Amino acid sequence: MSDYDAIVLGAGGAGLMCAATAGQRGRRVLLLDHADEPGKKILISGGGRCNFTNLHTAPDRYLSQNPHFAKSALGRYTAQDFLALVEAEGIAWHEKTLGQLFCDGSARQIVALLLAECAKGGVALHCGDPIGEVSHADGLYHVDYGPHSATAPALVIATGGPSIPKLGASGFAYDLARRFGLKVVEPRPALVPLTLGGDEVLFRELSGVAAEVIVSCGKVEFREAALFTHRGLSGPAILQISTYWRRGEAIATDFLPDAPRGWLAEAKRNRPRVALRKLLGEALPDRLAATLCDRLHIDGELGALTDKALKAAEARLADWRFTPNGSEGFAKAEVTAGGISTAELSSKTMEARRMPGLYAIGEAVDVTGWLGGYNFQWAWASAWAAGLAV
Ligand SMILES: Cc1cc2nc3c(=O)[nH]c(=O)nc-3n(C[C@H](O)[C@H](O)[C@H](O)COP(=O)(O)OP(=O)(O)OC[C@H]3O[C@@H](n4cnc5c(N)ncnc54)[C@H](O)[C@@H]3O)c2cc1C
Repeated sequence: MSDYDAIVLGAGGAGLMCAATAGQRGRRVLLLDHADEPGKKILISGGGRCNFTNLHTAPDRYLSQNPHFAKSALGRYTAQDFLALVEAEGIAWHEKTLGQLFCDGSARQIVALLLAECAKGGVALHCGDPIGEVSHADGLYHVDYGPHSATAPALVIATGGPSIPKLGASGFAYDLARRFGLKVVEPRPALVPLTLGGDEVLFRELSGVAAEVIVSCGKVEFREAALFTHRGLSGPAILQISTYWRRGEAIATDFLPDAPRGWLAEAKRNRPRVALRKLLGEALPDRLAATLCDRLHIDGELGALTDKALKAAEARLADWRFTPNGSEGFAKAEVTAGGISTAELSSKTMEARRMPGLYAIGEAVDVTGWLGGYNFQWAWASAWAAGLAV
């Protein structure tokens, strides 16, 4: 006889959702977390208002070695499904931008919702003790936690990735997965500010300046705000592209995404007495306009500049190359890309193909969403899939 039907490790968004789903199916569930309270990342998410889902959720907004893996779970538990829960709980919400849904009040309401769902399912929640030995024998998983231990035929790894270690995040999921023979795709910080070095350190002087730009890396591009920081680049556009960026690659930036082709030549014809710096300052923050002019090594009245120089300036402003020398790492990364390989898991149930009864969900898995509620939607959807299967 086992103590429980399922033991869920990690009481973040994914673990809470999985435990609630399984519990409400009548399963006896134990939910464990080493932190002193559940859902700590939910509490700080979305600036304290939790961007809990995105209306435009679609598999192509997720990165994974297997881009098809997330389709099944995302298709079966949608943004509308989570929204229905939020509305049933009477939580007021709003769409901020680009399909991103936030609580009007506090992220704490989402944690309360998930805890209420767990309570409905009779989930036993235990926080504050470290997970010790985890083993498998005779079809049962055995978990030591603090001075306690429990057994169950199903074990769900929902301990997330190592981003923001000061919140209790760890690489525990990967260690455990490897111990049971599962492959792990090299984890790396994602949705993370990038750092500038070399002669690009000059841009750090623009700390606090932001502009709406298009950034691209390879075939992927994002149009959102970029922000200069005292270490380099941040803001939504940079966080988004950071997930795709690899060390050594350049990030192409279009500083004037709405400017039509030939706009500088036309400005020269229409306003020959205006200085380039001033013209750029009409579309961009003054400090940024000045720095870009300095770096372009041209300034002065448009009428005094050659067409060739203006054409070259226009081309660079539309395709400015930054080559970050690194990122701010797991300490500042909103998520971890990589993780437990999807090749090891069933996309329907999240169960390990070679280790019956072992499941992995949420950020621990090699599925990483864009900024904007996509990562929570993956947490809910993958948790739902596993919660129906355990
Ligand atoms: C600052 C910030 C803001 C964010 N904002 C948003 C947002 O608005 N919208 C969005 O979609 N995504 C957001 N994210 C990403 C989102 O928080 C994660 O993708 C999501 O929380 C992943 O859920 P999870 O349950 O898989 O992992 P986590 O939320 O990381 O939960 C894992 C749980 O496991 C526990 N744990 C870890 N190691 C152990 C161990 N060894 N033993 C026992 N327990 C352990 C942790 O304490 C934690 O409770 C944000 C992330 C950060 C850092």
